[in-house]
Amino acid sequence: MYDILPVLGSGLVISGALLLATAIAPVWKIFRQLPAGGLRYSWGFLILLILIFIAGYVVYAKFSSVQFSQPLDLVVPVIFFGGAIFVFVVCSLSLRTTRDIMQNYALKQENITDSLMEIFNRRYLDRRLKDETERAINYSHPLSIFLIDIDHFKRINDTYGHQVGDQVLKNIAQLLKRSIRESDVLARYGGEEFVVILPRTQVSTSYQLAERLRHIVADFELTLPEDVSRDPVTINVAVSVGVAGLTPDCKDSQCLIENADQALYRAKRNGRNQVVISKSNNIDTEKSGNQIGAAELQ
Ligand code: GH3
Ligand code: MG
Ligand code: MG
Repeated sequence: MYDILPVLGSGLVISGALLLATAIAPVWKIFRQLPAGGLRYSWGFLILLILIFIAGYVVYAKFSSVQFSQPLDLVVPVIFFGGAIFVFVVCSLSLRTTRDIMQNYALKQENITDSLMEIFNRRYLDRRLKDETERAINYSHPLSIFLIDIDHFKRINDTYGHQVGDQVLKNIAQLLKRSIRESDVLARYGGEEFVVILPRTQVSTSYQLAERLRHIVADFELTLPEDVSRDPVTINVAVSVGVAGLTPDCKDSQCLIENADQALYRAKRNGRNQVVISKSNNIDTEKSGNQIGAAELQ
């Protein structure tokens, strides 16, 4: 009656070891997808642990003095096998969960990113500006925004074509992204217009930051390589910027945008390539330009 026990015991140990070996595949896939760093090493450590377990199974199966002659001799193989199933299920579920999370993250990013400029899109901007405005009001923090518009952008499309126009837009967007502070939020407002949200920032400081951005864009020369249809071209653009901040009379995102838009309109009317603060903020830029500490800008 107990003849079957040795086969059963060895079978449990061998299938446990095989199951563990199979569990390495999902862990290896997770390990490969992770960037170098602590988390990747942790998954690497898990692979090492599984290998140690497999070695333990093999050593047990080969050198153990237990002959699997009594039902009780099967306790350890059964525990081994149960442990192997547990490891296999956890590892497979981890891979599926990781994939789902990554897919969701990618979809979420796609949903809030402008595909041409690779910065936040209008949908994200509307929501974030509303959130930031509410937070600023609730905690009595300052908040300001820039509305940036590229000057005479139509001429670039007309002169070099829409595709070059697209490349200019993408490069300017990335230049702006590199030039703002980490706490600021850059988004495409529409066409060739951008909004920067500057949380916890007074309008006077924003004015100086906007001036800095304006200079960075004006100094930027974009050289596009030769193409089948055109010679290499070097393009310069300038931007006009409207700056607006929360005031007791302007406490929501819509009002902020409207004030920044009016300021931008004045910047365009005054000759472009300049920064104008909304009238509602009552700031004398001549004075504030000199008074704000340079440290604030760094
Ligand atoms: P202003 O200085 O008054 O702002 O002049 P402008 O020519 O920049 O202004 P206008 O609003 O008349 O033109 C904006 C142009 O931007 C028109 C539109 O074709 C172009 N544009 C908007 N979105 C895109 C885009 O995604 N790609 C390209 N290539 N052009 C775009
Ligand atoms: Mg424009
Ligand atoms: Mg425009």
